[in-house]
Formats: sequence, C-alpha cells, structure tokens
Amino acid sequence: MAISNLSITDDKWRAIVENDKSYDGVFWYAVKTTGIFCRPSCKSRPPKRENIRLFKTAEQALAEQFRPCKRCKPTGQRLPDHEWIVWVTEYVNSHYMENLTLHILAEMSHGSPYHLHRTFKRIMHKTPMEYIQKTRLEQAKKQLIGSDKSVAEVGKSVGLSNTPYFITLFKKNMGCTPLQYRQLQSKQAQNGGIQYGKSKNE
Ligand SMILES: [Zn+2]
Repeated sequence: MAISNLSITDDKWRAIVENDKSYDGVFWYAVKTTGIFCRPSCKSRPPKRENIRLFKTAEQALAEQFRPCKRCKPTGQRLPDHEWIVWVTEYVNSHYMENLTLHILAEMSHGSPYHLHRTFKRIMHKTPMEYIQKTRLEQAKKQLIGSDKSVAEVGKSVGLSNTPYFITLFKKNMGCTPLQYRQLQSKQAQNGGIQYGKSKNE
C-alpha cells in the first residue's frame, strides 16, 4: 500500500482546524474513521488528529479508496448523490448498534440533515431513520434466532436499549413480539421447516 509522504505538521493541523482556505490545493486530508477526504477549508467538524492522513493530490486520496466529501467537494466535482447515499447506508450497516440520528449521519457524511433526508428518500424510497430501524430489526431477528440473549440484551445490542420501545417497534413491524418470534422460529426449526438467513441482508 502506498503511504502518503506528507506528515501532519502543526501548520497543517492548524489549517484544518481553522478551515484555512489558503491551504486548499496544497494538501488534502482524509479521515481514517469515516473514509472521507476534504480540503483544508472544509467546514466539517475537525477530526481527531491521529485519524488523519494527508495527501498531496485528491487523486492520491481517491486511489486509496477515500471518498470525496459532499460538503467541500475536494475533487472539484460534486459527489454523485448515489455515492453519497451508498456511503450512508454502509455507515448505518456497520454502526446501527450506536446512537444514530439524522443529524449524526449528516455530520458524519458531511451533508446537511435536510438534504440528506430528501436525497436518501428519493434514492432509497425510505427515510434514513426508517432505514436505521429496518437494519436494527433485521439484526435483532438474527440474534433472536441465533443466540440465547434476552430480549432486552438483543435490543440493546442493536441500538434499541429502551426495551419497551424495542418490543413495540418489533411488534409493529413483525406482527409479533420478539419473544413470540423466537418461539415461533424455534418451533419451526424443530419441525425442520426453518430457513436461516431469510432476511435480505445476508
Ligand atoms: Zn469536506
């Protein structure tokens, strides 16, 4: 793997923190934890210094699989909406167990909440929050079948730590409570009729 040969000097770090436009074109910075890269002047929240990688060109960042920021458009082109939304869905898929809100997603993906909500809905035919819920319920179903965890533990591990809310949400979507779902599935398993991995996400 090619290693970018720019080190993070105090100078460059200051440029990032202060959104210093005079450094645009001098270097680009990528954030390892989000996989997104920006111009120094980007108004997005400053990342942790240890999570940053610097590049001399936007092409180098792209070549290392970083995605251009939606807000500062570091390649000079707009990030296509589709790619933006793909990034957001991937982020939800790997962070559904954490506290996720529209604002958090917007901040992580460097867009405005309003724009994210609209664009997501247009492309995915559901809102970001609906997508988060669906992902959590799919994961909960897997755990109800594949583990001995209590209902509260299952809820907690998929980001729904309010147990009554988890049960209500589950019932609303599945037509039965988590416990009923588990019992039903295990009965079907005993009858040899179970199909593991029915859900679409597998
Ligand atoms: Zn940016």
